[in-house]
Amino acid sequence: MVHYYSADYVMPVTSSPIKNGVIAMDENGTVLGIYDNDSVPKNVEIERFKGVLIPGFINAHCHLELSHLLGKIPQKQGLVKFITEVMSNRGADEDIVYEAMVAADKVMYANGIQAVGDHVNSTVSAKVKEASKIAYHTFVEILGLREEEAIEKIDEAREIEFSFDSEHASITLHAPYSCSKVLFKAFKKSISDDNIISIHNQESEEENKLFRYKTGEFLDFYSQIGFPADDFKAQARNSIQTYMSYLPARNRVILVHNTYTSLKDLDFIRRMGRDVFLCLCPKANLYIEDALPKVSIFEQNASNIAIGTDSLASNDTLSILDELKVLHRHFPELDFNKTLKWATINGAKALSLDEGLGSLEVGKTPGLLLLKNMNHFKITDKVEMERIA
Ligand SMILES: [Zn+2]
Repeated sequence: MVHYYSADYVMPVTSSPIKNGVIAMDENGTVLGIYDNDSVPKNVEIERFKGVLIPGFINAHCHLELSHLLGKIPQKQGLVKFITEVMSNRGADEDIVYEAMVAADKVMYANGIQAVGDHVNSTVSAKVKEASKIAYHTFVEILGLREEEAIEKIDEAREIEFSFDSEHASITLHAPYSCSKVLFKAFKKSISDDNIISIHNQESEEENKLFRYKTGEFLDFYSQIGFPADDFKAQARNSIQTYMSYLPARNRVILVHNTYTSLKDLDFIRRMGRDVFLCLCPKANLYIEDALPKVSIFEQNASNIAIGTDSLASNDTLSILDELKVLHRHFPELDFNKTLKWATINGAKALSLDEGLGSLEVGKTPGLLLLKNMNHFKITDKVEMERIA
């Protein structure tokens, strides 16, 4: 059976918004046709809604396996304290971790999320992902500050990767402050060109301080965990401008957070000419650092922007609409036509899931969401979402 849905506007994302547009979908949610008022087949029954129809959201960054940490980590203490707290709080009963992941997965689907880029350190989320309505790309994180353990850490990550859908899993470096240069080099040698990399980038000014001057809270953190950091040398420039060249040139890289990424850094990234996506996680940035990236310079200087929620350790919701609300509240000049791309097709491209997701196009099965209470295409706190398909 074919369903015809219509609303005040249909926003396919990869083509122009259609006033009173109609979208035809089969039982499985596959798009069969997109019409305007004139081209819609005659004598079909159309379900009409008040609002704007859009494809399902893509959450480009999450850590499902930290879902049990909801409300456990104090807010606005900065990244280094946050990491310390997560390290000491993440251990929990297997059942608690599992139940929290199942609940988080269901909430994300209810919140209109169709696909997730999910970071893991273990195999615990594999079963949840297999049973989920959400498409996942799993990024197995590698962390290793000690040079001698680089190869061993890569092998461990490969082992974990086997538990996930091989088409939609890759190994990745966690962050520039948690990986040695030797590990970066070994990683570069060990991966194939289609291995998508997703790395936490400039989530704290402390990361820039570490790379620029070899000062700041990361040095205290290193001494706490007994890492000498003797071989680390100050580079007189922000972290990204140093470590980007350690990454393989042909692989897609998702830079996550970018809270302290400057215009100069963005210029540097652009000049490298690589396949780079910048993922913004505004609610997590407010939670951890009480700061936001300079979104206006991103809007003007980078095209591949995606949006993520990060985990429930640093967020009270897993909702891309909530992330959009925060972005539009803090940056009122943002255009929803643009941010909708960030929230859908760009994330799908970043995760190589755009063949079926991220836009309303014939043949795709992208999900269908109704945004209600929008006024002149503005995202305000009043906007609500309902999943139609
Ligand atoms: Zn993260």
